[in-house]
Amino acid sequence: MRILVVEDEKKVARFLKAGLEGEGHFVETAGDGETGEEAAFAGEFDVIVLDLMLPRKNGIDVLKSLRSSGKSTPVLILTARGALEEKVEGLDAGADDYLVKPFAFEELIARIRSLGRRGGSDKSTILKVADLELDTMSRKAKRSGKEIELTNREYALLEYFVRNANRVLTRTIISEHIWEYDFDTGTNIVEVYVNHLRNKVDSGFDQKLIHTVRGAGYMMKVG
Ligand code: CA
Repeated sequence: MRILVVEDEKKVARFLKAGLEGEGHFVETAGDGETGEEAAFAGEFDVIVLDLMLPRKNGIDVLKSLRSSGKSTPVLILTARGALEEKVEGLDAGADDYLVKPFAFEELIARIRSLGRRGGSDKSTILKVADLELDTMSRKAKRSGKEIELTNREYALLEYFVRNANRVLTRTIISEHIWEYDFDTGTNIVEVYVNHLRNKVDSGFDQKLIHTVRGAGYMMKVG
């Protein structure tokens, strides 16, 4: 699954990211409410883990803004505050679940899994471009019915290409989406990853799906 973690405590954010990635999920983190809200609108996430006490914009306001704009991504509120009225406020604002710190990591994982299933039940989890097929819940990719072995990052990049088929994606846009916001665009890591992906997705097929747009970036398209 694709999970957005909005948490200002760096230690907690790092712990969640490492733990959830270890479970095979793709994790993006945001360190304040405004950045979190932007990320939630910009990306397609299966679950959002949202802290309440956040700099720039608190979690309740972020949640209200998402829900009033029709964004229905399942949200799990994670907070040190456990008072009953705050739980009620969070759930009233549109949260799907609530977990109070300190929590057992296994419980968080179980709740996220359950939210992912809930969110997945009312939307298709299969994305297609030509004979390339992605299952966004199991994070598996197939081409002509044959499974493609991908690392977490490669899968995330491929899903981003598929969701943005027929659009030119610059290296900067790709790096901001797939890597952290403070990503150093001077390196050629995007190029390296796109080439890995090409080898796995396009090599051996007459019809290429990942194209270089000279001077601009990359595009996924048929033909
Ligand atoms: Ca906090």
